[in-house]
Amino acid sequence: MTDKNAGLAVLGGTFDPVHYGHLHSAVAVRDLLSVDSIRLMPSYMPPHRNLPQTSASQRLEMLRIAISQYDGLELDEREILRQGVSYTIDTLRSLRSDIGPQAALCFVLGFDSYRTLNEWQRWQELSDVAHLLVLARPGFSAALPAEIALWASDKMVDEASRMMESPCGNICCVELVQLEISATEIRQMIAAGGSPEEMTTQGVIDYIRQQGLYRC
Ligand code: ATP
Repeated sequence: MTDKNAGLAVLGGTFDPVHYGHLHSAVAVRDLLSVDSIRLMPSYMPPHRNLPQTSASQRLEMLRIAISQYDGLELDEREILRQGVSYTIDTLRSLRSDIGPQAALCFVLGFDSYRTLNEWQRWQELSDVAHLLVLARPGFSAALPAEIALWASDKMVDEASRMMESPCGNICCVELVQLEISATEIRQMIAAGGSPEEMTTQGVIDYIRQQGLYRC
C-alpha cells in the first residue's frame, strides 16, 4: 500500500542549462502533489524563443547529471526523440495516450511561461488533456493577458493535490520555492567569465566547464 497519488506530473522546459530553480521546484511539486516522481522534459526546439545554445544531447546530459542526486526526479525524452518543433499540446496528447484516459496528468510551468499561453499552438486544448500547475516565479509578476484569465476563470482550483483526483481540466497557481535563478542569467554569467556557483549543481557546472559551454 502507498499513500502516494497515481498520475503523472511533468515539468517542461528548455533546460539550457538545468538549475536549482527547476530542481527545487520539481521536488516541491512532487511533494505537493504527493506523487512518487515528477518528470523533467526538455524540448527539442521550443516554438516561442531562440534556439537553445547547446545541443539536445548536452542538455539531456546536464539533466541526467543533475537529477542523479534527487529522489523522484525523472527524465522524459519524448520531445527530443520526436525532434522538430516541440508543441506542448502534441506532447501532452502523447503522454495521455501512454497513461490512458482516466489517470491524472499535470503539466507544470512557471508563471512567465503561463502568461504567454495564448501564443501556444492550440492552447485552449491543453486543459482537455492535462491539468496546469503554475509556479510563481520571482521577477515575473506582470498581469495575465485577459484572454488567458477569461479562459482560466472556470478552471481554477485552490488545492493542487485535488487535481490528482481527476484526469485533466483544472488550473492551480502556487507559490512554492522562490528562487530567483534563470538559465539566461547562468549563460550570461559564464559568457562574462563567471561561474554559476550555487545556481546549479556542481556536476552540471563541471560538465559546462568540461564542454566549454556558454562561453560566448
Ligand atoms: P531561460 O532563462 O533560458 O528562459 P529558464 O530559467 O526560464 O530559462 P526554462 O528551461 O525555460 O528555464 O524553464 C522551464 C520551466 O521552468 C518554465 O515553465 C519556467 O517558467 C520554469 N522555471 C524556470 N526557472 C524557474 C524558477 N526559478 N522558479 C520557478 N519556475 C521556474
